This record gives sequence, C-alpha cells and structure tokens, in this order.
Amino acid sequence: MLIDVHVHVSRPEHEHPWVLEFIRDEYKGDIWALVQEVLTPAGLRPFLQQNGIDWAVALAEVNPVTTGNTPNEYVADLCAQANALPDPPAGPRGRLLPFASLNPFVVNDLADELERLVKEFGFRGFKVYPVYQHHYVNDSRMYPLYARAQELGVPMLVHTGSSVFKGARIKYGDPLHLDDVAIDFPRLTILMAHSGRPFWYAQAFWMARRHENVYMEISGLPGKKLLEYFPDLERLADKVVYGSDWPGNPYLRRNVEAIGALPLKAETREKILWKNAAKILGVEVRG
Ligand SMILES: [Zn+2]
Repeated sequence: MLIDVHVHVSRPEHEHPWVLEFIRDEYKGDIWALVQEVLTPAGLRPFLQQNGIDWAVALAEVNPVTTGNTPNEYVADLCAQANALPDPPAGPRGRLLPFASLNPFVVNDLADELERLVKEFGFRGFKVYPVYQHHYVNDSRMYPLYARAQELGVPMLVHTGSSVFKGARIKYGDPLHLDDVAIDFPRLTILMAHSGRPFWYAQAFWMARRHENVYMEISGLPGKKLLEYFPDLERLADKVVYGSDWPGNPYLRRNVEAIGALPLKAETREKILWKNAAKILGVEVRG
C-alpha cells in the first residue's frame, strides 16, 4: 500500500515559462513530454498504478503571479474522469483525491468558495501556498477559511520551507506561523508540505510533536536523508505522511525504496507510507 499526498497535475499550459524552464533544466530529459502524456484521465491511473500508488492527492494551484494557474475545476474534472475508470483486478488502484487551491488575492470569500468546491465538486481537502501567495499562513484573512474547513472536516496541506521559483517569498514558509492556526483551530488537520525544507526542520518537527492536529509531510525530501534531518523520526511515527511532489520529483519509486531501506520499525514505515494518510483522508484501504 502507498498513499501519495502531494502530486501536481498541472499541464504545461498552466505554468509560467520560468517554471517550465527550471524543471526542463533540472531534469535534462523532457519531463514535460512525460507530463503531457501522463496527465489525461486515461493516462494518469495506469501511471500511478505502475508506481505502486493506491491513492494520490491531486493538487490545484492558483498562484497566478508566481508559478501559474492550475484551476480547481480542471483538477476536479480530471479526478472525476480518471476515477470513473474501472479498478484493476489486483494491485494498486491509482485513484485520485482532488485538493483545491485557495488564494486570498484571487477569491474574496474563501470559506464559501471552499464549501462550494467540497460540496459541488467533491474536493477532499485544500492546499495553501504562502510563499507563492505572499501572506503569512496565520493572516487574519485566512481565518474564516480555516473555521469552515474545520467545520467541513477537510484537511489542509500547507507549503512550508523554501522554493527556487521566481517570485517566491521565503519568509512566509516558516512552519512556526502555523502555531497560531494549530491552536486556534484544534480540529483542523494541518499537513506541513516539505516539513520546512531546508532550514526549518527543527521547527517542523517541534510543531508536529507539540500539536495533535499538525503532521509532517515529507514530499521533496530525499528518502535516504530523512533520519539525518529528523533523527527522532521514530518518536513521531503517527505524525508523518508520505508525498512525492511529482513531477518536481520525477523519481517516484526510487524515493519510496529509499524510505523502505531506512532503519525504522516496519510499523513506522507503514504508517508513513500510507496508514497515517488513510486516516487523515478517510479512504478505505485494500484488504
Ligand atoms: Zn509541490
């Protein structure tokens, strides 16, 4: 079993040119050719299945001045079409869970918009991108959104840590700003994407230990380095969830294998790779 809580489904036409260029340079091979081929309802599920993924969170991204605009409606439609295809007879199903993107500079009434997206389009959570949206995560404008999310029982993924993309403002990525949110909304489940990479690991770890509703999400971190970054990872076995950040990290299998090779209890690995996420997302798992 494997659940990936961080998969980008942006097509090249959704991204700004500098994002396309960066990823093209970084990965030499034409990652965008692969993305174009995979990102169709018929292409996505076999791709996820081949990579051993049972459930994947598919992310919208409404950051028009920095990275681009991958609309919520597009993501909902992609997921609905892909999920309507039959499950394979055995093995990973590669099903999708749409997460909305809510940006306070784009939408006025964030709370009503979240409710509409959840009720009309079946969104299962949402992502906030403070470094790309240019606000602190504890900004008072965000509070009605958190209150509604808590009421609706949908989890929030938050980008924490740095970014190399043009226009990102890194100061907004410090996980400590989540302290207010975690305290003020104790029933809101908060996943810290990238766990504060690369200079706020201690803060991220502390937040997840301190707050029952805060989890570390390890997308974009090299699996083999996890215990270097978090020597006490075992103590937080119930508070860590796996994500890939595909296609930002194109090597899906390699990273899961690296986590599998870490000297952790088998039970801890299972919790990180799917058990914790299954509880948070409320999905049923294969027997
Ligand atoms: Zn990402």
